Amino acid sequence: MQGLMQHGALTLDKIIDHAAKWNGGREVVSRSVEGPIVRTTYGEIRDRAKRVSNALLAMGIKPGDRVGTLAWNTGRHMEVWYGIMGIGAVCHTLNPRLFPEQIAWIADHAGDRAIFTDLTFLPIIAGILPRLPHVEHVIVLTDRAHMPADFAPAGEAPHFKGLLAYEDLVEQNSAECAWGGFDEGTAAGLCYTSGTTGDPKGVLYSHRSNFLHTLITMQPDVMGLSQKDVILPVVPMFHANAWGVAFSAPGAGAKMVMPGAKMDGASIFELLDTEGVTFSAAVPTVWQMLLQHLEASGAKLPVLKKVVIGGAACPESIIRAFQEKYDVEVVHAWGMTETSPVGTLSVMTDELSKLPYDQQMPYRLKQGRPPLGVEICLKDDEGQRLPHDGQAFGNLKIRGPIIAAEYFRGAGGKILDDEGFFDTGDVATIDDHGFMQITDRAKDVVKSGGEWISTIEIENIAVGHPKVALAAVVGAAHPKWDERPVLLIKLKDGETASKAEFIDYLQGKIAKWWMPDDVLFVDDIPLGATGKIDKKLIRKRLAEQGYTLPEAPVQGTPPEAPPEASKAQTLAAADGSHGAVIYAPEPVEAPEDVQQVMAPEPEPQIQPEPEPVATEVVHAPEPVVEVEKPVEDTSQADALIAAAAAVAAATPVIAPPEPEPPKPAPRPEPVAETPLRLHEPAAPKPTLIVDPSAEDDLPFAMPITPRKGGKKAKARSKAESAEPAKTKSGKPPLWASLYVDLAVLAALAPAILVAGGALGVKLGFLDLPLGYTAMTLDWAPKAAFVSVATSLLALVIALVGGFSKLGKGALLALALTAASFAAMFGAKALSGQSPPIHDVATDWKTPLAFSDVALAARGGSAQIVDDDPSLPVGSAAYAGRSIADVNAETCPAARPLVSPRTPGDAYEAVKAAVMAAGLTLVTDDPADGRLEATGSSFWYGLTDDLVVRVRPDAQGSRVDMRSIGRDAGPDQGRNCARIGDLITAVRGA
Ligand code: AMP
Repeated sequence: MQGLMQHGALTLDKIIDHAAKWNGGREVVSRSVEGPIVRTTYGEIRDRAKRVSNALLAMGIKPGDRVGTLAWNTGRHMEVWYGIMGIGAVCHTLNPRLFPEQIAWIADHAGDRAIFTDLTFLPIIAGILPRLPHVEHVIVLTDRAHMPADFAPAGEAPHFKGLLAYEDLVEQNSAECAWGGFDEGTAAGLCYTSGTTGDPKGVLYSHRSNFLHTLITMQPDVMGLSQKDVILPVVPMFHANAWGVAFSAPGAGAKMVMPGAKMDGASIFELLDTEGVTFSAAVPTVWQMLLQHLEASGAKLPVLKKVVIGGAACPESIIRAFQEKYDVEVVHAWGMTETSPVGTLSVMTDELSKLPYDQQMPYRLKQGRPPLGVEICLKDDEGQRLPHDGQAFGNLKIRGPIIAAEYFRGAGGKILDDEGFFDTGDVATIDDHGFMQITDRAKDVVKSGGEWISTIEIENIAVGHPKVALAAVVGAAHPKWDERPVLLIKLKDGETASKAEFIDYLQGKIAKWWMPDDVLFVDDIPLGATGKIDKKLIRKRLAEQGYTLPEAPVQGTPPEAPPEASKAQTLAAADGSHGAVIYAPEPVEAPEDVQQVMAPEPEPQIQPEPEPVATEVVHAPEPVVEVEKPVEDTSQADALIAAAAAVAAATPVIAPPEPEPPKPAPRPEPVAETPLRLHEPAAPKPTLIVDPSAEDDLPFAMPITPRKGGKKAKARSKAESAEPAKTKSGKPPLWASLYVDLAVLAALAPAILVAGGALGVKLGFLDLPLGYTAMTLDWAPKAAFVSVATSLLALVIALVGGFSKLGKGALLALALTAASFAAMFGAKALSGQSPPIHDVATDWKTPLAFSDVALAARGGSAQIVDDDPSLPVGSAAYAGRSIADVNAETCPAARPLVSPRTPGDAYEAVKAAVMAAGLTLVTDDPADGRLEATGSSFWYGLTDDLVVRVRPDAQGSRVDMRSIGRDAGPDQGRNCARIGDLITAVRGA
């Protein structure tokens, strides 16, 4: 018998309708991508979302069509979500922190027909558009004034109909649009998992699953949201739907505060403070940054009541800092893209909340209990249920109406077991209070002697060490125990430590047999696109570097040992040996019985002290093991070259340069005698003006065909006419000679295109997109591939039609083609060494801003000057990493210059160096210690802006610089070289 209640499909349009009707004036405040804080309301959001729906319908978007978004958390992004979902289309959130190749793959797999993007991501869009045959429209989330003047896809994109300004669409379309009316099982959203194993897989949420998830998360023991709350979702809308907050906040009628592109501690604090935020949600790294900011600034959080922390295990230090210093309750949560995402939360039960705080801590550290609507259990590898005794480790399984039943397009096949449970891939325990604790990802757990060691637990303890910035544990192969744990430590800036110190620290906190066999100090710990430690990459890098466990595990400090924490010991392992093992104990016999025997101390491998440099600031110790290394640079030019390589299947494909350890970008020799220059010089001269003498190497004067006439030629032709001829007249057929000449011309085409592009831009009859982006970066490589075929055919014709007459021409064509490829390889290798950035600074903590005058000079279409050091860099090697981080790794020259000079003297020295470098001064303010300058490269006029700040310092003065390109795409190392050269010049002055 059916119940007799109304059905009312649970579709998501009802959420924003409800918010607009009953809390229509409640604000949604965003830090806009353009800069200013923007305020709107739920009423306006609904109105504008309907206009978006009409715009989509006018573009021909139908129910079920996928529409991508590549955007930060802003009110506009919310309008787009509701606009897409309201008409039954599918909102596909793309994660900009993935590699461009992955984004292209995902958008193509999803079949996205249109993409809404923030200005920030236009370079990514330009790069991937040629690979997205279904994408017809790209809508930029901005107004007409901020639209780029010179956007061009990096290759053929026949379906693409051009960029549209979002505000134009909103203005031009009506706010009358019928939403809903479809089944609640209709697909609403699509989000791909990060794909650490195999291809990314799409999780296709339905209106019903998201609606139920909203109701679930609003429960008091979940997020407990109220109309009175002011909610700041730091977790991005592109990462598992911002944990549903873009539905639950309007569902509750709470005020929303959207952080836009800025997620650094200072920016988040500013919003928390000025907007009176009561509730927020983010991954631990964001909170770590906020806490550091609070610590440094002494600021407090009087209004914030609760933060949800999930996505990765939350360390005790964060929970305690929030609770004990700022009186903010932490709810530790676990979930996955596949679980919509909220799965469990560590909210104290009535019984546990009566315990003293310290006794609650073990439970607060766990990932907690499932809310109504979610079922979890543990199973072993045979599918047998395991007890909930807090001891048994098992595969965590989950079931319910907000959990994925299968992946989009059936990827991965059947994903539910016979009882309908989804295997999370996490290994966990569940205790008798029902608190689940993740002990590892199934693929990360260290299997030692048949037992499992939780890497997460060791990491959580290690990050509590005051010197540690980040910690990771991975398993390394062991001849006896299969695997043993290795602890990787990234120290905080300026810290030094010994391996033994960490073993000591872990003693007594973990089982003896869990004790890492080795401790490695690393320059960085790579994070994946969703901000989690990328252990797959760590294992890969260690394998590439031939890492093996030390013969005997690292031991702690024996009581009588002298304090040996020193930089030298840390450095001692820089050669990749196990030299930093200070005490060599007996080889371990069994994990349960790690021996503490002290062996004779080996010769310490102390590296010579570096030359003292009076003006240089001392920085953190050298990294011992490099985990993150630049791999393929996916800058636009390289992507083009790689794409062209793939097209020319018959020719050898250009291999990406082998990853190399980070090192200062070498100053390449000018590519003399090179017939093709694909880029501006990869590491240019110190000036903004490219050395004209280097450009003289451009092949303007290269002969097109072998010279005719002249005595020598006549003599040669006599001799040649004595050779057997292929035609009756003794000459090759005319068509054959013509073809060979044409082949030579074709082989010259790349050089002609590059030279023509450079000259055209220089003389002003070609614009940059044509002369540089198209002719130099796009057409020239394609022409080189065409010339492979034409010159090979010329060779065949020469062999058949008379080699003595035609052979030279054919060989010349082949040689020119080979030279073009050599130049392409060279340019690619050189640009591969420059990071995919255009912004280099010596101080990212207080980034140098440009004055209004300098910003106006940059123009509206220039790349945005973002003072957010956490801006992710979208590229294969650097995805998800901050510019500050990438700068530190790839441009070691970008260091502040501290010198004994007075600030006035230092200013004058900088000014002289800037002038000598041929830059044009824009601001010259010695009183304020502020100088701005600008300059363009010689051929293409690629423009960069420089800002310099000179401040008094305890030692005398400190000079900071920031140099930033205006044009789209990476700067091929120009800005790094400029800063390095200016610093050298000032120091030597
Ligand atoms: P994603 O689908 O990218 O959100 O990743 C989901 C995975 O993140 C889970 O399967 C866990 O491995 C991990 N994860 C999420 N939350 C936590 C947490 N609180 N503690 C430990 N791991 C977590």
